[in-house]
Amino acid sequence: MRNFEKSSKLDHVCYDIRGPVMDEANRMIDQGVDILKLNIGNPAPFGFRAPEELLKRMNENLSHTEGYSDSKGLLSARRAIVKYCQKKGIEQVNVDDVYTGNGVSELITLAMQGLLNSGDEVLVPSPDYPLWTASVTLSGGTAVHYMCDEEAEWYPDINDIKSKITSRTKGIVIINPNNPTGTLYPREVLKEIVEVCRKYGLIIFADEIYDRLVFDGLEHVSIASLAPDLLTITFNGLSKSHLIAGYRCGWMSLCGDKSFAKGYVEGINLLSSMRLCSNVPAQSVIETALEMEEETRQLMIPGGRIYEQRKYTFQALNEIPGISVIKPKAAFYMFPKINTGKFNIYDDEKFVLDFLKDKKILLTHGGGFHWEKPDHFRVVYLPELSQLKVACDKLADFMSYYIQK
Ligand code: PLP
Repeated sequence: MRNFEKSSKLDHVCYDIRGPVMDEANRMIDQGVDILKLNIGNPAPFGFRAPEELLKRMNENLSHTEGYSDSKGLLSARRAIVKYCQKKGIEQVNVDDVYTGNGVSELITLAMQGLLNSGDEVLVPSPDYPLWTASVTLSGGTAVHYMCDEEAEWYPDINDIKSKITSRTKGIVIINPNNPTGTLYPREVLKEIVEVCRKYGLIIFADEIYDRLVFDGLEHVSIASLAPDLLTITFNGLSKSHLIAGYRCGWMSLCGDKSFAKGYVEGINLLSSMRLCSNVPAQSVIETALEMEEETRQLMIPGGRIYEQRKYTFQALNEIPGISVIKPKAAFYMFPKINTGKFNIYDDEKFVLDFLKDKKILLTHGGGFHWEKPDHFRVVYLPELSQLKVACDKLADFMSYYIQK
């Protein structure tokens, strides 16, 4: 009999859908155990509903969106995205620079596949949203991780970035607002990154999917608006801001100097055409969605669900002896630090597994985000306050007796 193995390209892909924690969670679920999942950034299971207006638009559009669209997407959607870019100070984007995708996920992979050859390097943050590292790796490149500094609100460490640039470095990934830390980069930090990219001629890959989910009246600055001379690819979508992760709706826009990247753009066009087009009914709501700011804003201000859930979770986690967390400024994630000495923690995955078995709550270990030390985990604070209270109480109880064996 022939034996079929997975592609060896997948051997070095680290992703949190596999491993002992997910195996155990699936085993428990099969046995009928009710698990509270604080591990997925998917709003719908926690009672968040798509805005009525978008459902209405989608229904109205279904009969007009039966066929393939242009491979880059519906013109009306791309026009709306251009307008959105302009609103964010990204000036030189036109409809030909915009590509819609089945979520940002598809476009991340497409952008890496179109660029990388074996041995090419891309700077990716640590911690990261792991699809970035996975996509670089799958595309034959090498993800070189630069550190984000918890002591400095989790901002990227500019000196570490500089020290990791080589002649093979093609670009840098900036995830802002950030998953898993929830941080929002100020203009000054972004300017410093732009300066480095300018000096070394790097492409900027800006993942800004959480740009409308910002707290405390803060402003999200698109890095592309600070780098009109550099090739910047900005990624965005509706999964999180409009609570429609399942519809699969995202886009990327290219701006800046493309004169030295004609071949790369040709590659992107080719890959975009090869998948024919992205989900057309989902594209049909982009125009309406980008006009709707208020619904998302309401979630992020005092009294709004995500705001109140952040407030509670931030305080409750910081009250647990041995755990500390930086207050997130955006999105719906926290990346708490564990005092590893206090609990003898040498393996963060084992910590999350032990917690799951004991308390039936699923977290993600820091290693799942390419964070090397065993001293962090990620919490998604999307569940209702009542569930978050149960989760934080159980974590506090667990940490009162846990010593890793
Ligand atoms: N980028 C970041 C930083 C994310 O956190 C996620 C999803 O969690 C994605 C991209 C993918 O989003 P999409 O649903 O658009 O594929």
